[in-house]
Amino acid sequence: MPGTLYIVATPIGNLGDITLRALDTLRQVDFIAAEDTRVTLRLLNHFEIRKPLVSYYEQNSVESGEKILSRLLAGESCALVSDAGTPAISDPGRALVSLCAENGVEVFSLPGACAAISAVALSGLDVARFCFEGFLSTAKRTRRERLGELSQERRAIVIYEAPHKLRATLDDLCECFGEERRCAVCRELTKLHEQTLRTTLGQARKYFAENEPRGEFVLVISGSDGGGDKPTLEQALALARSYREDGLSASEAARRAAGDTGLPRGAIYRELVRE
Ligand code: SAM
Repeated sequence: MPGTLYIVATPIGNLGDITLRALDTLRQVDFIAAEDTRVTLRLLNHFEIRKPLVSYYEQNSVESGEKILSRLLAGESCALVSDAGTPAISDPGRALVSLCAENGVEVFSLPGACAAISAVALSGLDVARFCFEGFLSTAKRTRRERLGELSQERRAIVIYEAPHKLRATLDDLCECFGEERRCAVCRELTKLHEQTLRTTLGQARKYFAENEPRGEFVLVISGSDGGGDKPTLEQALALARSYREDGLSASEAARRAAGDTGLPRGAIYRELVRE
């Protein structure tokens, strides 16, 4: 009879956030599949757990996934952990879960820390409905295109961001969503320097222009109200200008900015060529 895969959430900063069930499971499984075995070893040492570890990360997911699967099919049980938080949420795990499901191995998820969920709860925004974007693309054009598509999203939007990219992301967000859009910038959740700014995108940009972004960040951005914050011609023009900087012709830049914002291509084009 096949064994079981347990998806085990681990703390995102405060070790007190590990659950009793996570500790029991880590003690009871035959082995642990870890994103980075050194990080997981520190966690296990802290809780005095000794257990064989195998590494499972994005780049070895095919090869390592097959090996884990064959052990599961042979009856062993495995806990999957990432460096912090919930595996498979902007972390390795998805492929292993689907491999197990396809091969009749049972999978259970043990709930626990997840930076996105803590930030949503902390945001104070209308999060009755929200969507998770995870990390935005690092390619400037792809990122702006995605933000253009999201500018009319009615649900709150959750974004993960690294500190060295936060300023550029806030610039892009101001451009695509407008400076007045409300947001929560959550930093270093559950850690000593935890901080949540509940403000507007414009104010957040100003704050982090004056204060070096340090630590880990989650952004929660209020959904579009479907009217009052429709993109302005000025925002569409800013988008078109950035497409021009990427080397697109004025006509193609205007066409894309029109697609992103829903504003008429002709109006954007006329303003763009007038500059
Ligand atoms: N699987 C994890 C989870 O459940 O939250 C997310 C892993 S992802 C590789 C790492 C990103 O999550 C960071 O870049 C940051 O955006 C966010 N994050 C993780 N820990 C955080 C914390 N303590 N405070 C704020 N954001 C955090």
